[in-house]
Amino acid sequence: MSPASDRIRIGDAEIIRLLDGTFRVDGGAMFGVVPRTLWASKAAPDRENRVTLALNCYLVRTPDTTLLLDTGVGPDVGRRRTDFYSFDRRPGLFESLAELGLGPDGIDIVVNSHLHFDHCGGNTLKKADGTWSPAFPRARYVVQRGEWEQALHPVERDKPSYMPARLEPLAESGLLVLIDGDGPIAPGVDAVVVAGHTACHQGVRVTSAGQTFFYAADTVPTAAHVDLDYIMSFDLYPVETFDAKKALLARAEEGAWVLGFSHDLKTPFGRLRRTGKRLDIVPARAEND
Ligand SMILES: [Zn+2]
Repeated sequence: MSPASDRIRIGDAEIIRLLDGTFRVDGGAMFGVVPRTLWASKAAPDRENRVTLALNCYLVRTPDTTLLLDTGVGPDVGRRRTDFYSFDRRPGLFESLAELGLGPDGIDIVVNSHLHFDHCGGNTLKKADGTWSPAFPRARYVVQRGEWEQALHPVERDKPSYMPARLEPLAESGLLVLIDGDGPIAPGVDAVVVAGHTACHQGVRVTSAGQTFFYAADTVPTAAHVDLDYIMSFDLYPVETFDAKKALLARAEEGAWVLGFSHDLKTPFGRLRRTGKRLDIVPARAEND
């Protein structure tokens, strides 16, 4: 059973963090221009200077729709990536869904923030013949059109982050829904482009009874990244990340939003707290305490 800290209620919607596992990334790459003496107090590095990150997916249950935001790295990471990133796929997305009584047919809509392999690995599953098929055969898969095009034809720098052969079956199956910019996904659920990590990277806003949850994905991958200077070296357009994050956090503060983070293990839900000019995150607990 997932711990109480992994669930929150936003009006009529229930949101649950599902952990597809953890992996390790160089701390310098994760925190960009911020010196180790500063970031190490927020995320303790191992002997190889790596920090442990979560593969967070969020299940959103509204009165009408069951949505899954990002699908982790999936069960078929491959040995090279597993060795490089030390992926530990416990408990695993599909296992966590099963614990909630949700099988492959239980998801209505999958939304990918972007299509880097650690965010869409569970979109498809490998069949015995080596080809890939949709893991959620009843779902619509909602992706920004620009991100889809980038995933199928990545720029050279970003090529290692995409696995197009695993995505193409979504288009062939007719389950893929490409959207352009901000817009509704389901009642009370909206796509919001927050560019920078990739050109068309999107977040997801859930609104119910005057309350808001925002899945910021890789714009704010961990609670430490609410500090504007904390920007991953992986971001293709860091100046855009800075501006998009600044604008997003201003809206989040004004609306007292609950935020969800793509890679924070300890804090799946947080609220902004301001001390003078400084913003940081305090964990948000269930039942809106
Ligand atoms: Zn990521």
